[in-house]
Amino acid sequence: MLTQPDSLLKYLTDAKDLGLPQGHFIDGEFKAARSGRTMHSEDPGRGEAFANFARGDADDIADAVSSSRKALAVWRKTPPAERGRVLARTAELIRRNSERLAIAECLDSGKPIGEARGDVSGAARTFEYYAGACDKLEGSTFPLPSNYVGFSQFEPVGVTAHIIPWNFPISTAARGMAPALAAGCTVVAKPAEQTPFTALLLAELLTEAGLPAGVCNVVTGTGAEAGAPLVAHPGIDHVTFTGSVATGGRVLRACADNVTRSVMELGGKSPVVVLNDCNFDSTIANVAGAIFEHAGQICSAGSRLVIESAIHDRFVEALGKKAKAISLGHGLRSPDMGPVNSALQRDKILGFLDRARDRGAEFISGGRSSPNTESGKGYFIEPTIVANRPEDDELVQEEIFGPVLTVQKADDAEHALHLANCTRFGLVAGVFTSDFSKAHQLARDIDAGQVYINEYFAGGIEVPFGGNKQSGFGREKGLEGLKSYCKVKSIAARID
Ligand code: ADP
Repeated sequence: MLTQPDSLLKYLTDAKDLGLPQGHFIDGEFKAARSGRTMHSEDPGRGEAFANFARGDADDIADAVSSSRKALAVWRKTPPAERGRVLARTAELIRRNSERLAIAECLDSGKPIGEARGDVSGAARTFEYYAGACDKLEGSTFPLPSNYVGFSQFEPVGVTAHIIPWNFPISTAARGMAPALAAGCTVVAKPAEQTPFTALLLAELLTEAGLPAGVCNVVTGTGAEAGAPLVAHPGIDHVTFTGSVATGGRVLRACADNVTRSVMELGGKSPVVVLNDCNFDSTIANVAGAIFEHAGQICSAGSRLVIESAIHDRFVEALGKKAKAISLGHGLRSPDMGPVNSALQRDKILGFLDRARDRGAEFISGGRSSPNTESGKGYFIEPTIVANRPEDDELVQEEIFGPVLTVQKADDAEHALHLANCTRFGLVAGVFTSDFSKAHQLARDIDAGQVYINEYFAGGIEVPFGGNKQSGFGREKGLEGLKSYCKVKSIAARID
């Protein structure tokens, strides 16, 4: 039974109470699009529009980039300790406004309110982490002959563009903006058109925390109308893109034209390798969480269960039972799992499932869309597990971005390694075993940017994150993430 206090459910009928911004955030204030156009965001849990926002284009992008370029002169010279204070105050303000931010995120993205609260608290932690790093960006000295002195220093790369996806709007905005601002860069962010609000609210909180006008601008609108002119703008020095491989390729081509640096966080098809000697109960919980959190709409979701054969039958049966017990509902009602983000996503996922059915795939659980029992609307897909599929199956090779787990049966640990590495992606992997050596052999040999052992999604902002192969390049989070926003300058002098 899903229940929530009325204080939350009233937002189902009146999101206006959240006071969501309707303009871009440029030069420290909300402004309507130059064209005057607006568009709406849908609440995926009800499948209907709930709020309007500005529909930006190249003119608004030009304003934002010019504002960020002007502000760069001020921000890069702001003492690092002062930059740190602004970021620390932002963390505090995010915490103070956490419920409003979480409700906005829940309505915009569809995710359960508990997950949205977790994302907001993670965003606060991200600002706190990078606040402490601002005044610790140390260069090095070079061992030259005694009549020379040589050292390096970090400089901000300049005006940075951030293209933000719809699955983790506030988390992705924070993990790009915070290190960029810490390094002394300025920001122009373009949130996804499905989920524009928390990036705008974040920019407002940064200003309240003392960030000078223009240091962080946010332009809303579609990828084609606002995203494309942003990444192609010659006034942009760096692009951080998080999204699909196909769009990432288009963004990279635009970056190539201006020789703009970039970090690309793209797709994934991450394996969760489960060996016979795993801790059965905790591994079941982890495998379910890895694919059903945010209805599988996570680039690092564990979407392939690679499981050793002796444990296979018992494990898959227990996992199927767990999947069938998962409750679905509107995010504000705190279900186990919310909707997927849009009708487009739902239909894309159902396409994968229908084709798999046509190929004779066996469904351990789910496999269909599920109308919201409350309203009959919304974009819900049942938690789905598909039995053992061959290596070349579409369900093994393609990112589905939904609550769909594909099983792959492995003869032994060596075969499991082969299956883990069998796609063109290399974002993350999970390994579940009580054998320390096997765990670390797999961690060493799996081609992925990060490997979680015995806890999927282990780690936090301290741990660098990014992909190998077609999952992208560059790293966010951790001190590695800060370096993406720094240029190294080497200085060498003759002193005799
Ligand atoms: P999806 O296909 O799941 O919506 P995308 O990778 O297309 O994911 O979108 C991720 C982000 O990229 C969104 O903010 C979107 O507006 C933006 N985007 C889409 N197309 C472009 C583009 N050509 N240039 C820059 N940004 C884009």
